[in-house]
Amino acid sequence: MIIKDCKMPLKIGMLESLVRRLPPGHVRHPSINEDIKKIQAGYRGEYRVFHLLKALPEKDYLLFHDLRLSGSPFPFQMDILILTPFFLLIVEVKNMAGEILFDNTFNQLIRTNPDGKTEAFDDPISQVSRQRIHLLEWLKTKKINNLPVETLVVSANSSTIIRAANKELKGKVIRKDRILLQIAELKNKYTEESLSKRAIKRLSNVLLDGHTTFIPKPLETYGIPSSALQTGVFCQKCHTFTMERHRKWICHTCLDTSHDAHISALIDYVYLVKPSITNSEFRNFLQIKSPSSAKKLLTSLNLKHSGHTKGRVYLLDSLIEG
Ligand SMILES: [Zn+2]
Repeated sequence: MIIKDCKMPLKIGMLESLVRRLPPGHVRHPSINEDIKKIQAGYRGEYRVFHLLKALPEKDYLLFHDLRLSGSPFPFQMDILILTPFFLLIVEVKNMAGEILFDNTFNQLIRTNPDGKTEAFDDPISQVSRQRIHLLEWLKTKKINNLPVETLVVSANSSTIIRAANKELKGKVIRKDRILLQIAELKNKYTEESLSKRAIKRLSNVLLDGHTTFIPKPLETYGIPSSALQTGVFCQKCHTFTMERHRKWICHTCLDTSHDAHISALIDYVYLVKPSITNSEFRNFLQIKSPSSAKKLLTSLNLKHSGHTKGRVYLLDSLIEG
């Protein structure tokens, strides 16, 4: 049963907004585009593995994607967590093309690209073992003790060649197509249930309640001041910020029209600037001259707000939820 479904990371939308809002040719464009590709590849891998897990019997396997729990000193995040009556399983997904070598002597993962370039990464086996320790500690704080927690690293890319520096890694790293078989083998290890139906339900709620969404701050990450962002309303057709509001939005460059182009501008604002906006900030960011038409647009969105008249602050969270 899916308890927390696989959803595209917030960061992808944020970075796409950032790319759109930065002036053409900005020095940060290449590195941001590179990061978007990496995050998208990671997400695609998790999506593929999560999709395979949907074949597990619903009532005995509870699935969580991207669970982030408070830990000491930092929160910890798990790509996929599976809760069963017999054990918990943390799955770390890797989606890398080329050849990967697991080197557990130096705790590193060495990737060789199809073009022959090599790169070293943190060893995912150590990563997932650390997550296991964090999870056990976290469960202890919730007075839940002695649960068996298993771990698995899954390579989601069918064309990846996996090599290991020694044989100890057997069963710790698998290709995605083996995951259901591996889970069946794990289940055979356990003869007794650790959790009753009621306890599973309770634990599932505790985990879900403990989840905190990570809110990235892209401008801080890349050291970009908000003054560098282009203002105005974006035209989806010709990719300029030359839309003007009359009865609807009309692009002065290509004459394309839109009724709701202000919504994506507001989403850019939440992603990049802050989660609330005043009438005057709205006019500045969208380049709207008239306070009354700005008010009309903001009111039409039925946003939660606080304060009155000029000081009214509109809350934008609802635009990016769900
Ligand atoms: Zn246009």
